[in-house]
Amino acid sequence: MGSKEDEIFRIVEEKNVRFVRLQFVDVQGIPKNVAIPVGQLEKALGPGIHFDGSSIEGFVRIEESDMVLRPDPDTFRVLPWSGNEGTAEARLICDIELPDGKPFMGCPRQVLKKNMEEAAKLGYVMNTGPEMEFFLFKRQDGMPTNIPQDRGGYFDLAPIDLAEEIKREIVLVLEEMGFEVEAAHHEVAFGQHEIDFKYDNALATADNVITLKYVAKTLALQHGLHATFMPKPIFGVNGSGMHTNTSLFKDGKNAFYDPDAPDQISDTLRYFVGGVLKHIRAITAITNPLVNSYKRLVPGYEAPVYITWSGPNRSSLIRVPAPRGNSTRIEIRSPDPSCNPYLAFAAILAAGLDGVKNKIEPPERVEKNIYKLTEEEREKLGIGMLPGTLKEAIECFKEDELLVSALGEHVSQSIINVAMADWDSYRTQVHQWELDRYLQTY
Ligand code: ADP
Ligand code: GLU
Ligand code: MG
Ligand code: MG
Repeated sequence: MGSKEDEIFRIVEEKNVRFVRLQFVDVQGIPKNVAIPVGQLEKALGPGIHFDGSSIEGFVRIEESDMVLRPDPDTFRVLPWSGNEGTAEARLICDIELPDGKPFMGCPRQVLKKNMEEAAKLGYVMNTGPEMEFFLFKRQDGMPTNIPQDRGGYFDLAPIDLAEEIKREIVLVLEEMGFEVEAAHHEVAFGQHEIDFKYDNALATADNVITLKYVAKTLALQHGLHATFMPKPIFGVNGSGMHTNTSLFKDGKNAFYDPDAPDQISDTLRYFVGGVLKHIRAITAITNPLVNSYKRLVPGYEAPVYITWSGPNRSSLIRVPAPRGNSTRIEIRSPDPSCNPYLAFAAILAAGLDGVKNKIEPPERVEKNIYKLTEEEREKLGIGMLPGTLKEAIECFKEDELLVSALGEHVSQSIINVAMADWDSYRTQVHQWELDRYLQTY
């Protein structure tokens, strides 16, 4: 075993780690884990641990269920809140392999890695920095409600922001787990917060997104609260986004920055935007995967609706924030934090690379507040709309050969199956809105 493994065993000894959680995610990005006593760690890091994948959403049929967990040694972290007196637990994030050692392409992490290898062939690394928004809600009888914990607003302080202590705890735990947290603040809605951490390559960032949600939910529970990354938990107020700041680096330099170009925006950035906007209606099925995601993508709540890009204008779907040099990036504002980050980043990367390879020019930038344009003006400017429902997004996804092939047959089919089952269940429900609207009149 190499030096990374030696380092893991050194930490195991030092912190008295007794259990290691082997984590991975299913197709919906829900974390799963198998806990092993530390005596099994050598086996886990060597031949790997076999498990039955047939009960995991989007994995395999019962007759071909043998899978192997292949831990990524770079993801070893001690869980700061774990263990009893003097002992600890750790986690390792795993890739899923088939028994013959080949990657299992139903594993979202493998899908992202494959797309990153495609980018590497062109010399690119994609970096992402997500802005994670979420709500803290009260619990009643132990069960989550959608009653906000406080009545704070954007950037409020205590005593209006009642979550200062828990946010501080979340940030400290994340830092202990190797995050460089850049900011934590109250968001616009009652009980809504945001935590931002420093960008990294898309794989490390997707791992971080899963970790951040796990930490926030765990610490919220310890405070008797519920942390939710559901996109629109309350009608009539802002939902939660996961703005995804994205850039390509080549040879350690930001390929989106060109000091000599207009606005210092490189051709690569422009073509990347061209590719993302070309495929955005299909990408939305991945970045906004719930029926509820589409309740967020409506005018009036700082979430995008129209397919445009711009400079610093926040009503746009894609924005180019002001910083330049290594911070030159695009901010994609449509993703929400219910997405599977591995698949969301894979979809964005595949679409962006399509733009770069084929020199796809994006439409004209729109610097006006898009919500204030009339329908006629939008039509004249050729401004399209994001899908209005999960069903519409899935239809767009099915027709987008590039995306289906980037995510692979297995994952694509699972996404369609899961979404359509949800859609059918939603479509056939009788909702409170219908009763309020129709019961008395008809
Ligand atoms: P804003 O307030 O403009 O919406 P924030 O400052 O909250 O954005 O978040 C900026 C995010 O962008 C952070 O996660 C940061 O690490 C990330 N970021 C900065 N530079 C880059 C880059 N070159 N590539 C990708 N992400 C980046
Ligand atoms: N909460 C908003 C959204 O749904 C974003 C607010 C912001 O710009 O930070 O995307
Ligand atoms: Mg925000
Ligand atoms: Mg933002």
